Formats: sequence, C-alpha cells, structure tokens
Amino acid sequence: MTEPDVSSVAVVGALGRMGQQVRAAIELEPKLRLGGAIEAVGNPRIGETLADGVVVGDDPRAALADCAVAIDFTTPTATLGVMREAAELGVAYVCGTTGLSDEQRAQVSKFAERIPIVHAANFSVSVNVLAWLTREAARRLGSGFDAEIFEMHHSAKRDAPSGTALFLGEAVAAGRQMRLADHVLLDRHGDSDGRPEGAIGIQALRGGDNPGEHTVMFIGQGERLELTHRSSTRDHFARGAVRAATWLLGRPAGLYPIAQVFDLE
Ligand code: NAD
Repeated sequence: MTEPDVSSVAVVGALGRMGQQVRAAIELEPKLRLGGAIEAVGNPRIGETLADGVVVGDDPRAALADCAVAIDFTTPTATLGVMREAAELGVAYVCGTTGLSDEQRAQVSKFAERIPIVHAANFSVSVNVLAWLTREAARRLGSGFDAEIFEMHHSAKRDAPSGTALFLGEAVAAGRQMRLADHVLLDRHGDSDGRPEGAIGIQALRGGDNPGEHTVMFIGQGERLELTHRSSTRDHFARGAVRAATWLLGRPAGLYPIAQVFDLE
C-alpha cells in the first residue's frame, strides 16, 4: 500500500514537557501533520485548540481515529490504555514512556502482534550511538574493567534509575554476553564485602531542570574510560521520535528496536 504524502499523528500527553516538543518537531517534518492531541482526564486544558481542527481531548479512540501513527510520552498506565485503542484501530505507535514493568512490557509486545511499535527509553540519535559505543567498549575491554553508570535528571522525574541508564546497562551486558538482570547493582549503603565481580552499577541523582545526563565508566587499574551524553534541551528526543514515526509508516506489525530506526544494528 502506498502511503499518503502527509500522514496524521496523534500526540499522547500533548501538553506535557515532551508532548510540547513533539508537537514542535512535527511542524518541522513535511511528511507529518498533527491530527490528534490526547491528555489525561480532568486536565484543565481539555477542549483547547492546538492546531487547525485539533482540540485537546481525553478520548483516545476519537483522537486516534483519523491518525496513521501516535507518539506517546506519558506514564506506563496511560501508555497501555492508549496503545490498546491504537492496536484495535490499527494505528502505528512510537512510545517514549519509561518505567514500564516487565509485565507492562509484555503487554506492549502483545500489542505489537497487531500494529508496528517502536518503544525506546531514549530517542536521541546520539544516545543510541552512545549505547552502541558502550556495547563495543564493554566487549573489547573485557573483565579487567568495572562498569559503573551515572545518571542525573530533573527533580520531577518519576522513575529511577532512568530508562536510558538501564538501556546503557543492557548495552554493557550485551557487550559482555551476560544478562543485566543477573549483574545490575542499584543500591549501595552500609557495610559490604566490596564490589561483586562483574557487577554493573547504576546510580541516579535528581535535581533542578536537568533534561538528562548519562555517563558510562569503565574503571580499570590506574585508568578510567568515560563515555558521556548531556542533554541541554528535550528537542532532540522529540526529533528522534518523529523520525521513528515516519520510519514506521507502512511497516507491518512488530516491535522494532530503535537501533534499527537509526541503522545501528
Ligand atoms: P510530563 O509529566 O511533563 O508529561 C506527561 C504528560 O502526560 C502530562 O501532560 C500528563 O497530563 C499526560 N498524561 C498523563 N496521563 C495521561 C493519559 N491517561 N492520557 C493522556 N495523557 C496523559 O512528563 P515528560 O517529562 O514529558 O515525560 C513523559 C515520559 O517520557 C516519562 O516516562 C519520561 O521518562 C519519558 N521520556 C522519554 C524520553 C525518550 O527519549 N524516550 C525522553 C524524555 C522523557
């Protein structure tokens, strides 16, 4: 099937920090136009007009009806509710919401049997290149280097550690051919026997308006390699999500890795 020249996008969480950035990024993408805006029930701005014929609504089914793709940066519960409607309507889905449990991720995989979905903890192309570099560094440095990940975000962030820190932890684990769940170390306090061999440590800091900062450290004997990404705005996440939305148009159902969108596999 050929795709129309311009496809409509529904923005889920349209008035949130990321929702605003996504709407701005859609305006810069000639293949897309804003077609729907979904917000939480009870949001005082429901009914406000955002663009020609696009009014903020709290009914996902109505907002998705004429859209080819949705872009969602909300909360895990909101995401699963709207994604269910999208799966029923056949609307492709770009999801940036973080903090989903394993069970919630399994539900996303189930919906991907019906619609094409990209779910990524980070839509910045450079963070995805960082993950690629992290995997390669872990693979080449081997067991003589301890891996520690540090992340910092604004004080309103709900989930910790960040989805991106876990994503980078997965990259270390992939480079070492192990499972992150078997080696991740999220908490340190009190007395201990020292660092468990092969641990992948992740530490989270919160404060101010920081949109996100991640450093992966490989700490050896007398030397340390650090790979860092710092965000000063949120628009690069939004640009990546919009790029993923155009990439998804016309693809068959499935859960696509963000690395495939950015050609980093
Ligand atoms: P935010 O709180 O500013 O925005 C979330 C918006 O979702 C709010 O406007 C809220 O009213 C709305 N919402 C809540 N429930 C809803 C529902 N049922 N239906 C529709 N809308 C609903 O948060 P934010 O900073 O924009 O972050 C949102 C999510 O995106 C978080 O999980 C964050 O970690 C993640 N995030 C991901 C990336 C990435 O690249 N993947 C980048 C930045 C943030």
